[in-house]
Amino acid sequence: MPIQQRKENKTEQETPPVQMLDLRAQYESLRQEIDAVLSEILSSGHFVLGRHVESLEREVAEYHGVKYAVGLASCTDALHLSLRALGIKEGDEVITTPFTFIAAAEAIAYVGATPVFTDIDPKTLNIDPSGIKKRVTARTKAIIPVHLFGQPADMDEIMDIARQHGLKVVEDCAQAFGAKYKNRHVAGIGDAGCYSFYPSKNLGGYGDGGMMITNDPEIFKKVRLLRNHGTTGPYKHSFIGYNSRLDEIQAAILRIKLKHIDTYNQNRRTLAELYTSIIGNSVQCPVEMPDRSHVFHQYTIRSPQREKIRESLKKSSISSVVYYPVPLHLQEAFKNLGYRKGDLVESETAAREVLSLPVYPELDPEKVRFIAEAVVKALNE
Ligand SMILES: *Cc1c(COP(=O)(O)O)cnc(C)c1O
Repeated sequence: MPIQQRKENKTEQETPPVQMLDLRAQYESLRQEIDAVLSEILSSGHFVLGRHVESLEREVAEYHGVKYAVGLASCTDALHLSLRALGIKEGDEVITTPFTFIAAAEAIAYVGATPVFTDIDPKTLNIDPSGIKKRVTARTKAIIPVHLFGQPADMDEIMDIARQHGLKVVEDCAQAFGAKYKNRHVAGIGDAGCYSFYPSKNLGGYGDGGMMITNDPEIFKKVRLLRNHGTTGPYKHSFIGYNSRLDEIQAAILRIKLKHIDTYNQNRRTLAELYTSIIGNSVQCPVEMPDRSHVFHQYTIRSPQREKIRESLKKSSISSVVYYPVPLHLQEAFKNLGYRKGDLVESETAAREVLSLPVYPELDPEKVRFIAEAVVKALNE
């Protein structure tokens, strides 16, 4: 035991650790511009919903070629308020994927509706449209596809099913800012698209933030009112809303970063290609489906030997994370829904096999090479 410990310490000293994410590098590259705008806002005395929020809304709408955008406190709120604006309520069902972060399913529960989980396509890890079709009932009102890890879901098939059954589509784009499906940015394809500006996302601020975009003037009006207590005039409230406002500091920082988002995403894509060129024969690498542009929020590999790889990377001080170890249908929070192990096999298998490796725009390609070689080595040990 003491020998083992000494060996591990030695390895740590020899190789600098590789973190999943280093947010400081991006700040350093934008420091002058960000510091100047922060100082301007602090002196202005105007902090919540102001000219930067309005400009960001306009700029994000323009980027997507959609009519409306509403700055919000988070993507969880964007999903929740979109469902509220669509009139989804108790007794309704909303079909979504179990292999993702919990927020979309929570939003469905917030409005009193029932999340209906359907399995994923093992190749893309995104919701499988053939399963959606089978789960549509008289109570189904909407579908929430998630563009997981930055890869657009099968939007044509999903929109077809929605049209056939008169369902709404709310896209969870938290991990996919800038991703394209058939030359169209995600988020503008369904009835509403929801973004997170949490610091680790592809377009991230320095705190919480989110946005809903839409072409539907009714959804736009409703979400705008919902975010600020249903306020229609000074202390006049036409219905019960929420406090879900975006602040000026986040909006100003996001406006600066928005100008670079395509470059940031291109860097992620280049690093992903480098990973795949080295580990493509050792593990299942992410695939970019035809007619799509994957923005690699995560670079997620699959291997039945996931734990072996993970342990080996850890010994070389390389971070890796399992997104997501427990699919939502097996979470304690949803045990009332009555799902059992074995109900959604592809999601459960993915949960056992996936491993996300470090990827962010400023990551040195030399480090990617080092990580990729460590993965190959782990499997040959
Ligand atoms: C991060 C994330 C969310 C939640 O975003 P918040 O802004 O933190 O509420 C929702 N969905 C997915 C897929 C996410 O990755």
